[in-house]
Amino acid sequence: MSDNLSCDVLVLGAGIAGAGAAFYLGSQGVDAILVERDHPASGPTGASSAICHLWYLEPELSQLARRGCQILKDLPDLIGAPRVFHETGVLWVVGANNVEEWKRTVVRIRDVEGGGLDSLTPEEVAKLAPNFRLDGIVMGVWEERYGYVDPYDAANELVRGARDKGVRYLGNRTAKTLNVEGGKIAGVELSDGTKISTGRVVMATGPWTKALAAPLGVALPLHIERHFMAVLDAPGRAEDILPFCWVDDTRSHYARPEGENTILIGTWSGGGTGIRSEESTEDHAVHTHRVEVAGEFDATTSTEEAVWTIEHMTPRCPDLAGLGIRPGYACMYDMSPDDLPVIDQVPGAEGLFFAAGSSGHGFKLGPAVGESLAKWALGERSDLLAPFSLARFG
Ligand SMILES: Cc1cc2nc3c(=O)[nH]c(=O)nc-3n(C[C@H](O)[C@H](O)[C@H](O)COP(=O)(O)OP(=O)(O)OC[C@H]3O[C@@H](n4cnc5c(N)ncnc54)[C@H](O)[C@@H]3O)c2cc1C
Repeated sequence: MSDNLSCDVLVLGAGIAGAGAAFYLGSQGVDAILVERDHPASGPTGASSAICHLWYLEPELSQLARRGCQILKDLPDLIGAPRVFHETGVLWVVGANNVEEWKRTVVRIRDVEGGGLDSLTPEEVAKLAPNFRLDGIVMGVWEERYGYVDPYDAANELVRGARDKGVRYLGNRTAKTLNVEGGKIAGVELSDGTKISTGRVVMATGPWTKALAAPLGVALPLHIERHFMAVLDAPGRAEDILPFCWVDDTRSHYARPEGENTILIGTWSGGGTGIRSEESTEDHAVHTHRVEVAGEFDATTSTEEAVWTIEHMTPRCPDLAGLGIRPGYACMYDMSPDDLPVIDQVPGAEGLFFAAGSSGHGFKLGPAVGESLAKWALGERSDLLAPFSLARFG
């Protein structure tokens, strides 16, 4: 059954960013509607490793990460949600190549932006990770109060919180047409024929954003990649072998425990920490596939993909070699040309705001990106968003 509805602000997409936007709007008593194609966290958010840290080369990303993590940590107090943030600590290791830049970044975040991390000598890293081999590592970074989040619970709790505060939620409905009149957004039509009139739309539709905006004549500089995770079976031992989140710049991989029985491992070649390794980019090119239509990709992984991923880490952590391999999974990264998010107003459509191109590192930023975008829709644009404008691509 279709309806004619109206609201002050319409949010599209209930991934972590859209959920964060809806939660903020609800908390401000704004008359808002949240529309989701499937269910909350049904896109990349639900498949995220959701490692949450402050370490970023770009100050604005560190600050958005700090705010995003704070919202996630505060969920129990804000809305009586179960705890979703696991403060295992995040341990980064770096070799000689990037160490000077890393030192400067640690000083910036620690001494200028409010702390939350510190640098470690190789000896200090060895104390934290006695079962790891640390050849070639010249420095560590330890973020003691950070870790990982259950991404599915986090997005669903934010949506629940938004609904409790009066936001109307329409699930299993897809925004089909964005109606722009006289250069301003006027409303959105959904897949079931429902028409929603509004002068402000927050589009947080991840890899689907480019196709949704295309009929407006806007070619957003985004593309989609398939990325996969290996899953190791470590019954009762996962948190002994790997008690923290681990990010290794020298071998371009990261890992974290998933409770007591499982370890997740992923790889990267670039991405939003700002580090891009040409060597690993070549290596990854073989394993990274473009996705032409959002949602149309193979979500399973092959044994070869799992083994390739795990082999990034076994030289560092030989304990992994004896563990069994569980089926892995793959999902989408919505990529921008510089691996940084794109957060802006759609040209020629005043009132239509979007956040996309999170490039595989947008979970921790999501609640803060959603909040900032919602504030912008209400008339207050944060300076933190300035580096992520479309204009940087010319
Ligand atoms: C394997 C993997 C590992 C990752 N690891 C990390 C990590 O460790 N740390 C980190 O910070 N980030 C990580 N990321 C990235 C992070 O998950 C994403 O950047 C983040 O989840 C993006 O959130 P989003 O809300 O912007 O978009 P999405 O999660 O893509 O959500 C978009 C939502 O919009 C809905 N939608 C789409 N089109 C429409 C429409 N037309 N109408 C209505 N609804 C629509 C979709 O169904 C979806 O629910 C990882 C990603 C993957 C895939």
